[in-house]
Amino acid sequence: MDKILYKSTRGKGGLLTASAAILKGIADDGGLFVPTEIPIPEIPLENMINMDYKSLAYHILKDYLQDFEEAEICECINNAYDEKFDNPEIAPVVKKSDVYFLELFHGPTLAFKDMALSILPQFLKAAAKKQKLDSDIVILTATSGDTGKAALEGFAGVSGTKIIVFFPEKGVSEIQKMQMVTQTGNNTYVIGIEGNFDDAQTGVKKIFSDKELQKDMSAVNCMFSSANSINIGRLIPQIVYYFHGYLQLCRMGDIKVGEEINFTVPTGNFGNILAGYYAKKMGLPIRHLICASNENKVLYDFFNTGVYDKKRSFITTMSPSMDILVSSNLERLLFYLYDEDSSTVSELMAQLAGKGAYTINDFVKKKLVDFYGYYASEEDTAEAIKKVYINDRYIIDTHTAVAFSAYEKYRKQKCGKCAKTVIISTASPYKFAADVMKSIDPGYSELNSFQLIKEMSRLTNTEIPKGIKDLEGKPVIHNTVCSKDEMKKQVEKILGLTRFQ
Ligand SMILES: *Cc1c(COP(=O)(O)O)cnc(C)c1O
Repeated sequence: MDKILYKSTRGKGGLLTASAAILKGIADDGGLFVPTEIPIPEIPLENMINMDYKSLAYHILKDYLQDFEEAEICECINNAYDEKFDNPEIAPVVKKSDVYFLELFHGPTLAFKDMALSILPQFLKAAAKKQKLDSDIVILTATSGDTGKAALEGFAGVSGTKIIVFFPEKGVSEIQKMQMVTQTGNNTYVIGIEGNFDDAQTGVKKIFSDKELQKDMSAVNCMFSSANSINIGRLIPQIVYYFHGYLQLCRMGDIKVGEEINFTVPTGNFGNILAGYYAKKMGLPIRHLICASNENKVLYDFFNTGVYDKKRSFITTMSPSMDILVSSNLERLLFYLYDEDSSTVSELMAQLAGKGAYTINDFVKKKLVDFYGYYASEEDTAEAIKKVYINDRYIIDTHTAVAFSAYEKYRKQKCGKCAKTVIISTASPYKFAADVMKSIDPGYSELNSFQLIKEMSRLTNTEIPKGIKDLEGKPVIHNTVCSKDEMKKQVEKILGLTRFQ
């Protein structure tokens, strides 16, 4: 294996070390960082079977982080996957009827974003030291609900960092909003915007590429970085749980090492499922990656027609973390589909920015064989929650329900003859209690979120997770709301840059 470095999907800017790529977040040409090679782990799968999450993480991550010392990687892993997670497996698999759920919501904020965002601040701290950086890192993040809280938890109190989160004021669940606006830590800033997630994400990207602002920032010894899933430091840790899920099925004796399985992934920004694609390229026996969308079904259309078209109205659904029309990480998949031809990727991205759409050619479309795309309507989603509850007395959240519904459509298309399938379960049902409980029984509409949480606990005989129980009655600390055109001004105010205006 050659030394792994990082380059932009759009071809400019040369090669960077892992630490430099993680610190930068996004490449100067607007592209996303990708490794020069996808490494095959030295250790064969059968020797990984008995590894715990941390050891497995080390063996998967080390090849991607070649300018990190072994001790540094281990320290990052140990600080990330500790008692913050309320399950010793970190990401346990549970079997219900004929499917498996890989529960990625046992971290502090009850969504899968914790899997990567509990380690990203560790990477950034180590990277800053390595690059002898003496400026403060300002994490700027747009969130559709879950990234924001997970990033706030990860960065709160981390010296040398400030974190600013923009969320769509009307586009997140009540619990998600409560989690963010009650965030403590004197380096945390949370701002609602009058707009949707795509507005927030576009605004943040604009601030990142604002040369004038960057100059003002260096004058006060600050630099921006990103905690969004475009950061390669978020993508890589997500590969680990695909291996971990697979190996648990081996340990359960449900599959033999080497047997192919499917993963169904509730998808928004295409970060989670892309990590699955990396896992497959690293040799994990994955047959199909089933991409599940909600009614914002841009990816479903893309996989089925080869046309990516964001020109459509944005729909607010009960799976808000997937309410996205521009799936940023798809750019990385295109890069591989086009055999790393960065000029074509740049051209497609220019078309997306300019005309709002692009089409891949038939030759490339044929290479999408690893993926199946399906979508779930709001009714399908509610039905999936109810069905799993009735059959298994197991409550899934709205995002996981989109994936379950997609799995059922896939199985039907395959006439039941499909490989064993793991559904990636991305959030605790407690986090979306109102919509989840209403799906089980419309009669629950009468109750408020906190009453429903208690009812859910009673129904499932499970304890209310700490991150939720503590919310009731917590004081609101952040109450700023701005228009999408005021985002830059808010950042300048926070960083004390207003005198430059
Ligand atoms: C972020 C999120 C998703 C979508 O993941 P992507 O990596 O953006 O595709 C799905 N479900 C939940 C609960 C999330 O928080």
